[in-house]
Amino acid sequence: MGAATLAGLAARAAVCTACRLSETRTTVVFGIGGTSSGLLVVGEGPGREEDLRGEPFVGRSGKLLDRLIFEELGLTRAEFYIANVVKCRPPGNRDPAPDEVAACAAFLDGQLAAVDPRVVVTLGNVATRVLLGTAEGISAVRGRTHEWRGRLLVPTFHPAYALRGGGAVVAQMRADLVRAKLALASPR
Ligand code: URA
Repeated sequence: MGAATLAGLAARAAVCTACRLSETRTTVVFGIGGTSSGLLVVGEGPGREEDLRGEPFVGRSGKLLDRLIFEELGLTRAEFYIANVVKCRPPGNRDPAPDEVAACAAFLDGQLAAVDPRVVVTLGNVATRVLLGTAEGISAVRGRTHEWRGRLLVPTFHPAYALRGGGAVVAQMRADLVRAKLALASPR
């Protein structure tokens, strides 16, 4: 059997009840975007607005993220794909629990296989730890490009942290996105 398509995976996610987050979600936030650029951006989990609208990063932090990606990489959501580690909102925006991450892992793995990105950008501690399989915090692992499962992974801060942290954090995010741009241009 071939790899699942994004549409097929999304249809399965829409009716998923594999973990307790399905009991409190409004909408499954599967992921969205184009695949032509070779960039996949991975966040943590949907927040309140995303849960209502069914799309990742549509709140204030998403607007900042879109602006930074456009300014540093020249890409819009028509060209890069964006998804979260968990597809349903953790109540009160708490971190997703390990069993919830595990229950959702097949969807992210399927998205990785279907999008087949050259470069993965992880946003913040949760996504970075889950994908890199490390317990280290984002400050320790950002600032460089990691070889990862035959791809390149660039960890950066979560844009919600940048909204709180101001210019210095935004400047570091910009530097990370320049790393992602260089990584996209590197041969497979
Ligand atoms: N934060 C995330 O990690 N993901 C979203 O989709 C929104 C906010």
